[in-house]
Amino acid sequence: MNIFVSHSRKDLDLVTEVKRALGVVDYSPIVYEDLPQELKAGPDMTNIRNLINQSELVFIFLTQNAFSTNHTLTWIQYEDHISSMLNKPVILFQGINQPPVSPVIYFTDLVPVQFPLLDTITLQSVAKSFKSSGALIRGGAGALLGSLFGPVGALLGFFGGLLTTPQSPLAKVPVIKCPKCNYSYRYWGSVGSFFYCPYCLNGWIYNGGA
Ligand SMILES: [Zn+2]
Repeated sequence: MNIFVSHSRKDLDLVTEVKRALGVVDYSPIVYEDLPQELKAGPDMTNIRNLINQSELVFIFLTQNAFSTNHTLTWIQYEDHISSMLNKPVILFQGINQPPVSPVIYFTDLVPVQFPLLDTITLQSVAKSFKSSGALIRGGAGALLGSLFGPVGALLGFFGGLLTTPQSPLAKVPVIKCPKCNYSYRYWGSVGSFFYCPYCLNGWIYNGGA
């Protein structure tokens, strides 16, 4: 199972740890700059689109470095956009108490983490929950139906696909709706935790409600 890793190149230690953590549980993290030159024959934007297309999941690491330059931010936003066009689940790993500088306009999951430390167990369990749930196939089918109704329909369709999956580990993760912007996503943090919504950038406390 391929996981495209969207990140800042300055986060070398973090990415090394991500590769190790996912590798030991039998995932194939795709880190663009690691690929041999022969796999990067076309323009970067085309290569990246193809790689995301071949991936089941996209992990985005929203560190301080990710927001530090327009260049990095532009590429992360491009990767996010491609993921939305291809209906890939996008999992945002966001620093706790780190106000986002720029919105992310498409994602399915928000995982609060304490950068620069990486919680390996959480990282692995997020990946595993997608693998074992069959949610990818069902989510994809739902998204296909939903796509008749445009991008919002595609997203609803995606969640519809997830919610109809029996005994899915993902079903245990609450789908929340931001009270400020109404964007819905799975939230992997604990009840009572404060976080910034990546879509509207407002901070709020998750009180355990949907
Ligand atoms: Zn919001």
